[in-house]
Amino acid sequence: MPAKGKHRRPKSPRLARTIAVAGVGGVALALPFMGASGVHAAAAPAVATTYAVKAGDTLSKIADAQHVSGGWKKLYSDNRSAIGGDPSLIRPGLKLTIGQKATAPAAKSPATATQASAAKTATASGYTLPVQSASIGTAYKTAGSMWSSGYHTGVDFVVPTGTPLKAIAAGTVVSAGLDGAYGNEVVIQHADGKYSQYAHMSSLSVSSGQTVTEGQRIGLSGATGNVTGPHLHFEIRTTPSYGSDVDPVAYLRAHGVSL
Ligand SMILES: [Zn+2]
Repeated sequence: MPAKGKHRRPKSPRLARTIAVAGVGGVALALPFMGASGVHAAAAPAVATTYAVKAGDTLSKIADAQHVSGGWKKLYSDNRSAIGGDPSLIRPGLKLTIGQKATAPAAKSPATATQASAAKTATASGYTLPVQSASIGTAYKTAGSMWSSGYHTGVDFVVPTGTPLKAIAAGTVVSAGLDGAYGNEVVIQHADGKYSQYAHMSSLSVSSGQTVTEGQRIGLSGATGNVTGPHLHFEIRTTPSYGSDVDPVAYLRAHGVSL
């Protein structure tokens, strides 16, 4: 289970979820690995059963047939390490764990639902996701007192430290380095005049003034700056500076990126 990296906030449904997951941490962390090595049946909780994927199965078909509460998304999140990054690709013979209690009820909050995103990595429009195969943690404009603007000015992609980060489109790096609460960050100016920002990085592989191409690696994700865990904080801005943010998800979608 990936760490739920996010900004520090005093109270929220997501904070409650973090505590709940920590409380059953042994189960939540151990099951995906056991599923991958095929010995899950022996150690799984009594409520869990194993299902072997048949030809023609889809996650939603299995979820319906097995009455998985939470549907295919729950099935996917419970078996994410066995299935991999694309929920539409499940091979016959793959063993899925059904009915494990990996998440607390609070996990039904829309902000924390695992999103099956990121199948597409590049588009005809010249834009791509900043990370491949990531789920969205804290959404854009989430209210919270820890942000000086009063809301979350970007979107958080939940990824472990060391995940390659890519320039969403061609452009010019206008800054690359430490920036307070954002830790190590890169800001890139694009042809349409917008800027993309990538924060909390563990290492940078570009420098200011450098031109980059769509999908070019700009560094690795991390947990530098003000964070509670590793994630990519990603913004789209109308200027290079904080406070000029626009909806980053809407921007990517408008450029043909699926997420
Ligand atoms: Zn963030």
